[in-house]
Amino acid sequence: MQQKVIDVLSGVIHPAYQENIVRLGLVENLKVEGSRISFQLVFTRKDPLAGSIKEACREALKEAFPQYEVQILELVREKKAKNTNPAELGMEQLEHVGKIIVIASGKGGVGKSTVAVNLAVSLARRGYKVGLADADVYGPSVPKMTGTEGMMPQALEDEEGQQLILPLEKYGVKWMSIGYFASPEQALIWRGPMACNALKQIILQVQWGELDYLLIDLPPGTGDIHITLVNDIPVDGAVIVTTPQAVALADVEKGINMFRNPKIDKHIYGIVENMAWFTPAELPDNRYYIFGKGGSDAIAAKYGIEILARIPLVQSICEKSDDGAPEALDANSVIAKALDNIVF
Ligand code: ADP
Repeated sequence: MQQKVIDVLSGVIHPAYQENIVRLGLVENLKVEGSRISFQLVFTRKDPLAGSIKEACREALKEAFPQYEVQILELVREKKAKNTNPAELGMEQLEHVGKIIVIASGKGGVGKSTVAVNLAVSLARRGYKVGLADADVYGPSVPKMTGTEGMMPQALEDEEGQQLILPLEKYGVKWMSIGYFASPEQALIWRGPMACNALKQIILQVQWGELDYLLIDLPPGTGDIHITLVNDIPVDGAVIVTTPQAVALADVEKGINMFRNPKIDKHIYGIVENMAWFTPAELPDNRYYIFGKGGSDAIAAKYGIEILARIPLVQSICEKSDDGAPEALDANSVIAKALDNIVF
């Protein structure tokens, strides 16, 4: 029976290592007593995926042995790994990073990730060394937008035994996303401290190397996750993305107030107005202000903030995102012309 349980557990893969949990040595003290299966899942560090792995074990065993009760104890045992508890992660990996810039939005769906990805590509095309950490825990879209979906960043250990993650490299940018480690359904259940820890890991536990800019694509809104992240990571400033629509602009004010709150006090580089107007492909000179006009200027004036760029609503921007080849790769594209003027 014991062997059968091990066989079932061997079917549970740790997504970060692409290896089954038995091979990884995570299963200890396995016992089958009467109608009860019990064992310990031992992690060497506070693993953001521990909860989902535990659930995967439970489901697999319940399906294989429905008549058994399953008891799983989750443990974190410090081995030689150093500083891999997210709460203790240091800033070593950010030592050679020039500026850390968060890309924020008051509201979801305004194109924050589209702007983050295309800005990264624009900066890289202009010769800067760029990394992007996709911290949008509610809907990590960087893997899809960059055609790196389904790829798995490699884990490695540095000389001191600290676990590090290697970012993926494509289009001259180093990409890291919470989406590489969890399916979207899993990402949705990451809330509160668990989400914060996972986010810190995809920023602090990544071997970024030398970068001019590290962009961080924040989740939309102004919640605890934002405050923790912005406080715990040496962020230089923020770019706020919005559409000209009144509902989006109302949330922009919340975003500005969050960054200007004395407890956070981060510089705001400016606003990127996305979907500023609609231009149909067949009438490239026509501009239709379908979400209104002038709202972003009013906010920019009220708070003394610059408008960094205005990007029209163009079908190809959406299509290129879906194809995983950001439109800003083409220096002649509308989005490149808008973003190539941004300097930090
Ligand atoms: P957010 O990160 O704010 O939730 P996304 O970047 O995921 O928003 O964008 C939402 C959707 O809008 C995506 O399908 C994206 O391709 C599309 N989109 C964003 N900006 C533009 C634009 N300027 N023109 C056309 N489509 C856009």
